[in-house]
Amino acid sequence: MIQPLEEFIIYVDPSRCLGCRSCEVACAVEHSSSKQLFSAISEDPRPKPRTSVVVADGVYVPMRCMHCDPAPCVKACPTGSMRRTDEGFVVSDPARCIGCRTCLLACPFGHPSYSSRGKVIKCDHCIDRFKSGMPPACVEACPTGALRFGRAEELLGEERRRRALEMITGLGEGGVVYRRAASPVLVGR
Ligand code: SF4
Ligand code: SF4
Repeated sequence: MIQPLEEFIIYVDPSRCLGCRSCEVACAVEHSSSKQLFSAISEDPRPKPRTSVVVADGVYVPMRCMHCDPAPCVKACPTGSMRRTDEGFVVSDPARCIGCRTCLLACPFGHPSYSSRGKVIKCDHCIDRFKSGMPPACVEACPTGALRFGRAEELLGEERRRRALEMITGLGEGGVVYRRAASPVLVGR
């Protein structure tokens, strides 16, 4: 049974990110034709990741689409290529995309990207994996837990326990909850 997306979040914790970019590689492979690393490398065009690790002030920050609701990119798209699925994900339909890049301008987080095929591509939240009960490829690939996917209550409960521990030790960093919202929710600091 497909679970309502509202119950799930991706918790992004830059303090745990090594900058290894395993998430980017996993995303590109997941969106390749073969879905196999070594075959994907030789595909033409080479599959592109739909998530990226940005370096800000010396800190690695994994950035991905937040599947906003309402989504500025969906509102801006003149052809209906950018749309929300029944599960709640914001996806782009290459058959309808005319490559005008209006969605790139509309997205406040710089997420959709322009492919060499003249179409916009973006994170689809690994919708097929989600339907099979699997986490997004980027989350599965992350070796440190900088990206976590799960039920909001469980992940935020874990974070509350971690924060409590940090209050005792006096150490800690803030994290970001990526969920269906117009902007990320900052936790901690
Ligand atoms: S983060 Fe950008 S690409 Fe993703 S749904 Fe929001 S506006 Fe669209
Ligand atoms: S896989 Fe995890 S640790 Fe590596 S860059 Fe991505 S978020 Fe950071």
